[in-house]
Amino acid sequence: MDWLPEFWSYVTAPFLLEGALLAVQITTLATGIGVAAGLALALMRMSSLKILNRTAWTYIWFIRGTPLLLQLVFVFDALPLIGIKLDPFATAVIAFALNEAAFSAEIIRAGIQSVSRTQWHAAASLGMSSYLTLRRIILPQALRAILPGLINDAIGMLKLTSIASVIFVNELTFRSQQIVGQNFKFFTVFGAAAVMYLALTSVISWFQHWIEQRLDPEIERQPKSDFSLMTRLFGFSRGETPHEQVGNPKYSPITTTHALSAKNIDATHTIANISASKTNDASDTLKADFVICKNVHKNYGKREILKGIDLTIAKGQVVAIIGPSGSGKSTLLRMINHLEPMDQGEITVNGSLVGYARTSDGLKPKSDLAKARADAHIGFVFQNFNLFAHLSALENIMEAPVQVLKQSQEQAKISAKNLLARVGLTRHADHLPHRLSGGQQQRVAIARALAIDPQLMLFDEPTSALDPELVGEVLQVIRGLADAGMTMIVVTHEIRFAREVADKVIFIDGGIVIEQGSPADVLDRPKHERTRRFLRMVEAPSSYGESLEA
Ligand code: ADP
Ligand code: MG
Repeated sequence: MDWLPEFWSYVTAPFLLEGALLAVQITTLATGIGVAAGLALALMRMSSLKILNRTAWTYIWFIRGTPLLLQLVFVFDALPLIGIKLDPFATAVIAFALNEAAFSAEIIRAGIQSVSRTQWHAAASLGMSSYLTLRRIILPQALRAILPGLINDAIGMLKLTSIASVIFVNELTFRSQQIVGQNFKFFTVFGAAAVMYLALTSVISWFQHWIEQRLDPEIERQPKSDFSLMTRLFGFSRGETPHEQVGNPKYSPITTTHALSAKNIDATHTIANISASKTNDASDTLKADFVICKNVHKNYGKREILKGIDLTIAKGQVVAIIGPSGSGKSTLLRMINHLEPMDQGEITVNGSLVGYARTSDGLKPKSDLAKARADAHIGFVFQNFNLFAHLSALENIMEAPVQVLKQSQEQAKISAKNLLARVGLTRHADHLPHRLSGGQQQRVAIARALAIDPQLMLFDEPTSALDPELVGEVLQVIRGLADAGMTMIVVTHEIRFAREVADKVIFIDGGIVIEQGSPADVLDRPKHERTRRFLRMVEAPSSYGESLEA
């Protein structure tokens, strides 16, 4: 062990420590600059603008395809030619950053694309801009996939800074070689350098662990006392089942009246308050057409999906849209709050176009679509709930009021808690979506849509993704809104629900309205054979279910 004191003297030698510090500085700066540029490149790669996409692709192709050593020497020799004189250190930072930009761009792009596209749709329906969605919704979720890749790059770079010695950066490995060149003590000197590298990369690994813990929305939300092994391993603590139900009312639309069961949905009566003010001011305009669709056309490629839809909906009306799969029902809903542009026709909600401006040569899409959507106050509820996966139930509801409508945190929290109470989920305020049942998730999604103070609610098959026993609790919430006078368009296959709650039923097939009228007219006395055939098909399974129950 007599080598130990000498070895230790090298580990603590200021000459070598300065070299290590240089490596750290180059790595930190180049990673910071490189990742920022990488994010920009990743966004360019995903842009629909060809010029941006191609430019980013070419850059990444070139950088990844050529050796870093050549890039270093090239930057060192090329920059002075265009009049930029930098010291070796700055040159190394630039070369490493250029290199890191290309590699991190692909890691970041993969991370962003690993987040479901439906998260973008949900954010858009709440009036969030692309930038806001990226910052608040997508990147926080993508980061968990991105981080390990970026940390790998950082560790690789720290060790690779040694090649900066070719442009006379006097870093750790280079300094070790200088010492060995004089005293030939390979093992002790290089050993000391290795220990230094190991210590530095260990710090980076520890940092990775720390930040991954912080990014795990589940761990971050655990109260300290709930930090048991059970919780860590399985995501729930003892005495609680993962999908604990608040209430699970069996929906029986035929026998119930419009009264809601307050036993199961706590404070449901307050749903009536949500749009009480609206119903008051609606009295004078009740007869007026609140939503007007005129000759709405939509194509996807060469396929004509909507072939001239005309319909009107009065304020406070509940309209059920029924029709076979693929008939264009979801597409029509997306046109109404301008989640997608239409090809022809026009839609007004309360007299305003959503995201279009009227000009002398027709309608022109507005440049700030997010603001147009936010101003329209149209709530959208998706078939697959589309809750923000990294946010708790309460945070999901607060997101748009705080970020889009600029309410204060306190104000938004009070409103969000009220909304959660209205859908009977007070106890689940702090739960992440994956810990809620489908029915509970959909009720949170409804509360989230209500939080933007909607003047119109659109439901796209809100119960189609649910197990049969969870359908009732969601329909009950929707029925409560109907009773409160909310104007709603509900795409649904629940014929019994439509018969009972809707003021008007519209049957769509092949992108056109086949017939519309009162539930009794369309559902009990359909005029068209296509409607009859469709109703026979969708009503068949439930009568089958009933006969089983009997
Ligand atoms: P529905 O909701 O009535 O089941 P949709 O409105 O979802 O029907 O879809 C109507 C048709 O449009 C379907 O054939 C579907 O494949 C097509 N479609 C929907 N969205 C897109 C899209 N983004 N790109 C291409 N085709 C689409
Ligand atoms: Mg659909």
